[in-house]
Amino acid sequence: MKKKIAIIHTGGTFVMTPNQEGKLTPGHYAQEIIAQRIETLYPQVSFSQIMLLNLDSSLFQPHHWVLMSEKIAELYDEYDAFVIIHGTDTMAYTASALSFMLKNLDKVVVLTGSQLPLMATRSDAIQNLIAAIEVALYGELQEVVLVFNNTTLRGNRVKKKDAWDFHAFYSPNFEPLIKLGIGMERKQHRYLPKRSGIFEIDTRINNNVLIIPFFPGLNFSIYNPIIDENRVKGLVIEAYGSGNIPSDNLGLEELFSSAAHRQIPIAVCSQSPVGRVNLSLYEVASKTEFYGLISTVDMTREATLVKMMIALGRYRSIKNIKKFMTANIAGEKENSDAR
Ligand code: ASP
Repeated sequence: MKKKIAIIHTGGTFVMTPNQEGKLTPGHYAQEIIAQRIETLYPQVSFSQIMLLNLDSSLFQPHHWVLMSEKIAELYDEYDAFVIIHGTDTMAYTASALSFMLKNLDKVVVLTGSQLPLMATRSDAIQNLIAAIEVALYGELQEVVLVFNNTTLRGNRVKKKDAWDFHAFYSPNFEPLIKLGIGMERKQHRYLPKRSGIFEIDTRINNNVLIIPFFPGLNFSIYNPIIDENRVKGLVIEAYGSGNIPSDNLGLEELFSSAAHRQIPIAVCSQSPVGRVNLSLYEVASKTEFYGLISTVDMTREATLVKMMIALGRYRSIKNIKKFMTANIAGEKENSDAR
């Protein structure tokens, strides 16, 4: 029996072409080129190309993540694996969202894209797509991954780090799952274990989240009116290093008290992509425990923001939101901040 792979198009540079002013814009040629070049390479595989979206991924919103999840759910029983062609700008956010929305996944969902359009002479598009298909066919992964420049990373651990180099993504706190060289270097011990439940999707989401990056001179009282308007339902503080939030910063205590009063959860991630948040390490961070701040441990800022949106979509009580944020749902974090 032929393996079946669904290639889901969402757009991005991969499918783009220069318009009359020379600016890259989504084109309509990719499906045909893929059919010619990929389908002939893999006669043992049955491919379907699904045109779901054709957008620059910087235009993506949470409802696009919902659309992708729903499409995978619709096709789930029919295909062995899913490859999503996606723009690089927000691929890390989509990968995180799908990792939470697709529950009890027992197939692989591979996101890929390219730095140069498929039609460009030096394009990385075909190479990335072939690598994505190889990973999809490999069959032992049961999670959302990102394949780029011959590296397979856990989707909810990635960050786009380079807008120029072909090696555009990295995963600061989690080693690659698979490297493709002249063979496949597989790190099975890093794969997510098989889930026991039945596959389903949960796409509830609430995007009323605000992120505040810390910097010397930041006056938190600027944000107080926003909190008081009651529109923000979850806060993420991007703290220094290992989660340091100098608590005597202007307006900070007021903001935290106001958030606590309104039952707004506050998660703390770090401006340093590598390493872990440890709220009990430095004296300057000690007061923050008083406000019940949630340590994101080693989650990326992308995964933190998406996870907070999903927590707010799924739960009402701050207790349940905190429980979800601190749990390891889809391999997005280490279980504790202890090294
Ligand atoms: N702006 C493009 C996008 O995210 C960039 C890319 O695909 O590399 O759709």
